[in-house]
Amino acid sequence: MRASGKVLLTQRVKISRGEIHSIDERCKQCRLCIELCPKEVLQESEKVNEKGYHPPEAVEEPEKGKSCVACGLCEVICPEYAIWVEEKKENASTEGDQRERRF
Ligand code: SF4
Ligand code: SF4
Repeated sequence: MRASGKVLLTQRVKISRGEIHSIDERCKQCRLCIELCPKEVLQESEKVNEKGYHPPEAVEEPEKGKSCVACGLCEVICPEYAIWVEEKKENASTEGDQRERRF
């Protein structure tokens, strides 16, 4: 784009996003995934499994920066192999990636 002798460059970047899946019957409600998620998107759900535990659910609040970034920490930390993340790729451009170049 050329405007007033300036060229505005917009860099497109890939942002990782994740979708959380779980096998609720395996969960023992140890809360490790909830406590260690760096984006604080996991919480105990209202569901109750056969053992009487509440498995986690993902509740995202993007306006507060609470979005799953598919880091995989919940997946590797779960002792019951009850939760995993499926990574999705999205293209996005952000203000921080916009730079001006003068000619
Ligand atoms: S993949 Fe990472 S950011 Fe997403 S819910 Fe699990 S720990 Fe949180
Ligand atoms: S780490 Fe695994 S067992 Fe513990 S609360 Fe999360 S899903 Fe359940």
